[in-house]
This record gives sequence, structure tokens and C-alpha cells, in this order.
Amino acid sequence: MKFTPENYKLPDVPMQPFIDDEEIWDYINHTQSTPEKVKAIVQKSLDKNRLSLAETAVLLKATDSESIEIIKKGARELKEKVYGKRIVLFAPLYVGNYCSNNCRYCGFKASNKSAIRKTLTKEELIENVKALEEHGQKRLILVYGEHRTYSAEFIADTVRTVYSVKKDHGEIRRVNINAAPFDIEGFKTVHESGIGTYQIFQETYHHPTYSYVHPSGKKADYDWRLTSLDRAMEAGIDDVGLGALFGLYDWRFEVLALLRHVNHLEACYNVGPHTISFPRIQDASEYDLDDKYFVTDAEFTRLVAILRLAVPYTGLILTAREPEKIRKEVLAFGCSQIDAGTKLEIGAYSENPHIDQNLHKEQFKINDDRTLNEVIDELLNSDYIPSFCTACYRKGRTGEHFMEFSVPGFIKKFCTPNAMLTLAEYIVDYATPETAAKGWKVINRNLESLGDERYIKEVNSRLERIKQGERDLYF
Ligand code: SAM
Ligand code: SF4
Repeated sequence: MKFTPENYKLPDVPMQPFIDDEEIWDYINHTQSTPEKVKAIVQKSLDKNRLSLAETAVLLKATDSESIEIIKKGARELKEKVYGKRIVLFAPLYVGNYCSNNCRYCGFKASNKSAIRKTLTKEELIENVKALEEHGQKRLILVYGEHRTYSAEFIADTVRTVYSVKKDHGEIRRVNINAAPFDIEGFKTVHESGIGTYQIFQETYHHPTYSYVHPSGKKADYDWRLTSLDRAMEAGIDDVGLGALFGLYDWRFEVLALLRHVNHLEACYNVGPHTISFPRIQDASEYDLDDKYFVTDAEFTRLVAILRLAVPYTGLILTAREPEKIRKEVLAFGCSQIDAGTKLEIGAYSENPHIDQNLHKEQFKINDDRTLNEVIDELLNSDYIPSFCTACYRKGRTGEHFMEFSVPGFIKKFCTPNAMLTLAEYIVDYATPETAAKGWKVINRNLESLGDERYIKEVNSRLERIKQGERDLYF
């Protein structure tokens, strides 16, 4: 699949800004949408082609119910046609909430005097990781405020600490980070600690809005943030996640700008982002924004379907900011990862008596506070295969979402069996008896779908080895 340049006003040069607000608006304003056009574009995506900005603008401009249904049906079909049934699970772990920025939407902003500041000590970090492992988590994203305390060395150290913690059969096999941008040297330091994905959100790609919502601190520098993934790539991190915080500006603008960001990375580094996130603004302490651009549920589900079709080979991350009902609808559009058992208060995963429980203060409110087991149970009810797979990353198979999409048989050969093996580990070690019973049923039902007899036999034998106490078996 080849990237096709569209003669952008700002050409794609590594480490140089590439967002022209006017250009993005031109695409939106000069596009007409009809159900026929929408149908043809959705078909292009179903034929496994990624969409251009102009094509995506047609989907964004569609407002009639017929077109919206074509878009949503297309996203569901793409998910069924291309992606298997597995949903990868992870948990965020907030390491510290000191922050020198003043993002208007965030409870951690420097000016929020009611926020209680806390950085986990090494001991507290270890206790929280143990608590997460005791619930069955295998994949974490570490989150930090933007503050001089959280240097690249500090962050690399926390990543190494997390990998070192083992509790019974528990271990964290993949540590991603969401942290303020570094220079290239800093990115090299965190890369060497063994991070999976480096994730950062531009929040809003619209320049005036960006300046308004980031009035001071280092984050006020739009271009420094915009080019951070270029620096990450230059430092050797080719697994990056981007995102926008929906509700700050027009959602259609943000979707096209996200796509423009994807194009930039593909043009400069020949590899797109591993994942895209699309958090919606949630209420936060000392919150300081009006609701002019808030995204309704109907708009949100539309925008996820459009993103799925526009970048059919990129992982989509959905978070616990969204209520259960919305989560259910957009999972069917092919979101590949969700967080579960999420707690955003610093130190809240452990029951540690050393941590004053009154200190728990979160960045914003979440709408889905079910436990990991509850989320897994619900996924099983809908015949999804909850997965903790980390095989590609550990086998050096980078760009797995792209491979799932483009390599025939990849999902049947790797993703589905690995999902079953990690689910089996979860069932044996952590699941409630009811969830365990459902889990085995889902595994057995899906074993048949692997097709090849020899392969089914091999997966079966590994499932048996897990029952006998072996762990971490993957293809
Ligand atoms: N401090 C770093 C930064 O700003 O990039 C990393 C961590 S920040 C805690 C992670 C993300 O939380 C931000 O990028 C932002 O998109 C999101 N966030 C902040 N306030 C939010 C709110 N009120 N509702 C939903 N998401 C929010
Ligand atoms: Fe700080 Fe990040 Fe919150 Fe902004 S979003 S105030 S940088 S923690």
C-alpha cells in the first residue's frame, strides 16, 4: 500500500510543522456529500485502501441518515472482514500529577490549588504494579504530568521498575507511556528502557484553539508538541500513538487533522502511527471551558466509524472515559484496545496503608468503573476474545495492526491463538468461576474457526500446558 501525497500547502518535511488550518477547512468547506459518493468511498475502504483527506471529508460532511447508516455499516463490515474477535485490554497507571502547564480542561493543571500533588515513590509504584498484576493485567500505560521531576531518566527508571515486578504468575509484559514530549536524546533514553508505544495527543490541531486552551507552560508551544512524534521516530521509536481530545474544537476538523498527521508520518518515516486515540472531554476539577464544541454521543459514534474507514490498518483505542453503552457500539466498529479496571487517582490500585487514601485525586471523571473481570465477562457475553497478547512486540514484529490488515491469515495464525492463550492464563489465574466457564466456552468455540487441523492441535496442546502451570506461551 503506497502513500499518495496530495500536494499539501505545507509539504511533509521531517521535524517540520505540517498542519495548515485553512487547508483543513478548505477540504471540509468545499466538499459535497451524497449517499452515492459515501457508498463508493466506503467500498474503497472495504477493499482495503486507506482514504485520502478529500474522501474522508465526504464522510465527515454526510449528515443524512442514509449516509450515516452506510458509514456505520461499512465500519462494522470492515471490522468483521478484517479484524478478528479479539479486544486487547490494558490499564493506565498514573505515576505522578505534578504539572507546570495550565491546560484549561485538566484537573492536574498548575493553577489548580485543590489538586493534591503526588508522585509515586518506587515502593508505591511497585505496590501498585503488584496490585494490577493480582487482577490479571499484563499491559500498562504509564501516565505523567509535565514537570521537571519527570525527566526522561526518571520515566525510563519507572518503566524498568514496572517490568521488574513479578507477583505469583503475574508480570507486566508491555509498558507504554503517555508523557510530555522529549528532545531526541530524551526519546532515546526512554526507548532504551523498553517502552512499547510512546503516546501523545495533540489535544486540538486548530492553532487558535490550541493557544487558548494551553495558555502557559511548555505545552503552549504547538509545534514542539506537533513534531514530537518525529523526534520519537528519529530516536528509533517506531511505535507511536497519536490522538485528539474531542470537545475543544470542531470534531470534523480534528478528524481530518489526525489523518493529516498520519500522512505526515507515513510520508517522512514510511510508517504510520500504531494507534489513534479519541478521548472526549470529561468533567475535571477547576474545569475552565465552555461546551460549544462538545461532541454528542451520535457525533462520537459517527466519528469513530469514519476514523475506522479512513485508516483501516491503524489500532483504535477507546477509553473508560466513555460509558458502557457507547463502548459497546463503537467496539463493533473495530476498536482494537480498551482499558479496563481503570483507576485514575494516583496510587489507587494498591490498598497500601502508607498512601493516605484521602490523597486520591483524579485528572478527570471516568464513566466506566467496572472491574477488569466485569469488563472481560461482558466482552465474553458478546463473543469477543479478551486478549493480553504482547507477542508481536516481543518477537520484534512491529506494526502489527498493519500486518493484521495486510498479511493474509495473520490474524488466524497469530492474533486469535495468542488471544486465546492469554485469556486461558487469565482464566486459570484470576477469573471468577462464572467468567472462567464463559471463557472456556468462547475459547473452544473459536478454536474451530482457526481452520487448519495441525494448528488447532498445537493451540490445544499449549492450552493444556497453561492448565498445567506453564505461562507466556505465544506464537
Ligand atoms: N501530561 C501529559 C500530556 O498532557 O500530554 C500526559 C498525560 S495527560 C495526563 C493525558 C491526556 O489526558 C491528555 O493528553 C489529555 O488528552 C487527557 N485529558 C486531560 N484532561 C482531560 C479531561 N478533562 N477529559 C478527558 N481527557 C483529558
Ligand atoms: Fe498537565 Fe497533561 Fe494535565 Fe496538561 S493535560 S495540565 S500537561 S497533566
